[in-house]
Amino acid sequence: MPEGHTIHRLARDHTRLLAGRPLVARSPQGRFAASAARLDGHVVERFEAYGKHLFQWWDTGEVVHVHLGLFGKVRVRPADGHGVLPEAPPSVRLRLATDTVAVDLTGPTDCSLGPPELRDRIVARLGPDPLRRDADPERFDAGVARSRAPIGALLLDQSVVAGVGNVYRAEALFVCGIHPERPGRELVDAERAALWATVVSMLRQGVKDNRIVTVDRAELGRPRTRVPRREATYAYGRDHCRRCGAAIARWQLANRTMYACPGCQR
Ligand SMILES: [Zn+2]
Repeated sequence: MPEGHTIHRLARDHTRLLAGRPLVARSPQGRFAASAARLDGHVVERFEAYGKHLFQWWDTGEVVHVHLGLFGKVRVRPADGHGVLPEAPPSVRLRLATDTVAVDLTGPTDCSLGPPELRDRIVARLGPDPLRRDADPERFDAGVARSRAPIGALLLDQSVVAGVGNVYRAEALFVCGIHPERPGRELVDAERAALWATVVSMLRQGVKDNRIVTVDRAELGRPRTRVPRREATYAYGRDHCRRCGAAIARWQLANRTMYACPGCQR
């Protein structure tokens, strides 16, 4: 599932490609056809990311909410040398296009049109998003400090922190040296503060890279070159810990596979 950095990156890229000009809106797959017809020829004034949710603010005063879920994908398809856009595959739920580029959305968990209250209702259920300037770290702090749930589950709970997914939860806990099964309320102030600071910096790096690289590039000895996938994490998806070489433990925590180093995270 895409984590928050993907959605923020989409908001940024879609703003550049699509915002502020009349768009062609289509739903070849059909499930968004009536809404697409209403929006056709209108303008998206801005794209907003909040956690794993993407909002399109249309000049009709309405909002489209997109949640990619596990299978949703966005593809950018530029026009060919003759200015012709590639035809949209029949699986596309929503195509937004200018003269020069089409952006195709397939397989989202949600793609719906509604009033601004639709956005407010969704955001009201979410914890602070580490990538947003208006994020309040104290809400994260309080959410963790009062919970008996394991910190590895709390990091995936979107009402505690919005945008962290399975890779970042494993890697942030690794970097902070925190065992995933420790109850939130047993973490000390400095650990909660370090976790917040770590997810902020990891997600920001993810937006910049447009992929997940959690290892410190200096530590890898490759400050500028592209980091291969197998070297991009400390514990997640690995057999052995990148730092100490111990066998990585994996188990199910909050219905997703947790990865942790028994040596580095006590
Ligand atoms: Zn280790």
